[in-house]
Amino acid sequence: MKIVIIGGVAGGATAAARLRRLDEKAEIILFEKGAYVSFANCGLPYYIGGEIMSRDALFVSTKETITAKYNVDIRDRTEVIKIDKDNKKVLAKDIETGKTYEENYDKLIISTGSSPFVPDFEGKDFDNVFTLWTIPDTDRIYNFIKNNAPKKAVVVGGGFIGLEMVENLSRRGIAVTLVEKMNQVMPPLDKDMAKLAENHLVAKNVNLMLEKGLVKITSNGKNVVLDDGSTIETDMVILSIGVRPNSSLAKDSGLKLNQRGGIIVDEFGQTSDSDIYAVGDVIEVENYLTRGKTMIPLAGPANKQGRAVCANVLDSYNKEAYKGTMGTSIAKIFDITVASTGLNEKMLNANGKIYKKDYFISLVHPMSQAGYYPGGLPMTIKLIFASNKKILGAQIVGYTGVDKRIDTIATSIHYGGDIYDLSQLELAYAPPYSSAKDPVNFAGFAACNIYEGLSSPMRYEEYLKNTDKYVLIDVREKMEIMAGKIEGSINMPLTTLRETINTLDKNKEYVLQCAVGLRGYIAERIFKQNGFTAFNLLGGYRTYCDIT
Ligand code: FAD
Repeated sequence: MKIVIIGGVAGGATAAARLRRLDEKAEIILFEKGAYVSFANCGLPYYIGGEIMSRDALFVSTKETITAKYNVDIRDRTEVIKIDKDNKKVLAKDIETGKTYEENYDKLIISTGSSPFVPDFEGKDFDNVFTLWTIPDTDRIYNFIKNNAPKKAVVVGGGFIGLEMVENLSRRGIAVTLVEKMNQVMPPLDKDMAKLAENHLVAKNVNLMLEKGLVKITSNGKNVVLDDGSTIETDMVILSIGVRPNSSLAKDSGLKLNQRGGIIVDEFGQTSDSDIYAVGDVIEVENYLTRGKTMIPLAGPANKQGRAVCANVLDSYNKEAYKGTMGTSIAKIFDITVASTGLNEKMLNANGKIYKKDYFISLVHPMSQAGYYPGGLPMTIKLIFASNKKILGAQIVGYTGVDKRIDTIATSIHYGGDIYDLSQLELAYAPPYSSAKDPVNFAGFAACNIYEGLSSPMRYEEYLKNTDKYVLIDVREKMEIMAGKIEGSINMPLTTLRETINTLDKNKEYVLQCAVGLRGYIAERIFKQNGFTAFNLLGGYRTYCDIT
């Protein structure tokens, strides 16, 4: 069997290695148009920022090590410029010599990835305007900083690569402006959770400009002009405004693509041609939860698809289905970690047919470790669940321990878990690592309370729209109020609430608020059991401060 692979990084290199492990006899040829295979694209921002000090560390494997370990015929600096599916061959071009030649295949795997999207605008070709995707991109940015010692930079686009660049340029002592067209950074998060990241960026002296679009770059790359007419002076610009699948080869060969240019594959990675498979950023995937078609360019899915497809390419193994992608992702932004999995509210509201108005959220602020153990820091967990109790998604922002909590929830979603599973999950505990009730359990408890009607959460925005209707009661202690309170709230500390509650009018509706939501819930229970109509302000005073 002769297998040709196009693309030699995440999906392609993974496929080459596994194919060899499964079939010692197969002829495996891997074409990569760049000079490097299997490099750590996810690590590039950290090399630029100096966190990864050695450039060599970016090369997870080299042509030589892969060849020696896996006996793969690697043709680097060689671009596949045509796929002739009818005759089962590709046309390859040696980039250095310009020489072209044909290579036939029995099976073809396409893992050509995606590329940064750069719209056509004035000034995009100045020498100080960059995108970051490859090793040469990284070298250009790194050398520009080394040779020109820029003082100011503009990053356009607040997705995870843009944010990683904001942090890493700041590490280099560069004053960074982040320009984002949407009203929030980090698209996988809802605005309320993204606000936590935005607050942190501002605290780290990033000049954050939301709802502003880049129009052009003028004055030899020194001025960035925005759609509100303002101009930002800069020494360099990083464009990070999304990616597009590298699917022109597939399209020209007649393979079926979706509207966004993603190659359509079945669960086995097979394209519309039975001898051609595709994996990674270039394919359309199924959303693990909705089963709807989507595109999710992430390294984890690309690697897993690259692995799964091998058994399907080689007829002699049981077929392996790829079960879909739920978009579990994580990013470090200075001192905080921002992570999400599954569906967010934006998706749910857009996805009217399935979930609209038929989901609930819980929001808690637990500590990463036991409260009494040094080093514990708070995190915010927003959990989204359906009326059938199933977990739909989660978003977590915090300082430490965010990664294991998002992975726990992602795992629960993978196995079809519900909020009761989260409340009962037995998770490892000792004070340096967690609490006897882990933050994930807490998120589950709060969700179960909502599901059972023990608690009726209310968002601050909802209260704000109806301040005439609701009486806002702050149940924190008097000392705590001195540090700040929500305008219009009445202080009735929880510790004396059982004595003071009888002074209240049962015909009114009450919103209870504490620091993070826990005492608000206790107060809500007292209110409800005394015949009052009561709600708990979601996330308490902390969430109010975060979002206002
Ligand atoms: P790639 O790994 O991009 O490989 C595609 C390869 O195909 C490229 O090397 C390209 O040169 C080659 N190629 C394309 N066309 C041809 C052709 N015609 N002939 C020959 N070769 C061709 N994902 C995460 O999940 N977490 C992260 O933290 C993260 N951080 C990232 C940071 C950066 C700076 C970047 C750039 C990406 C990051 N990603 C991250 C995304 C992740 O790297 C991609 O989702 C993943 O690499 C996709 O794998 P792939 O195999 O589809 O494509």
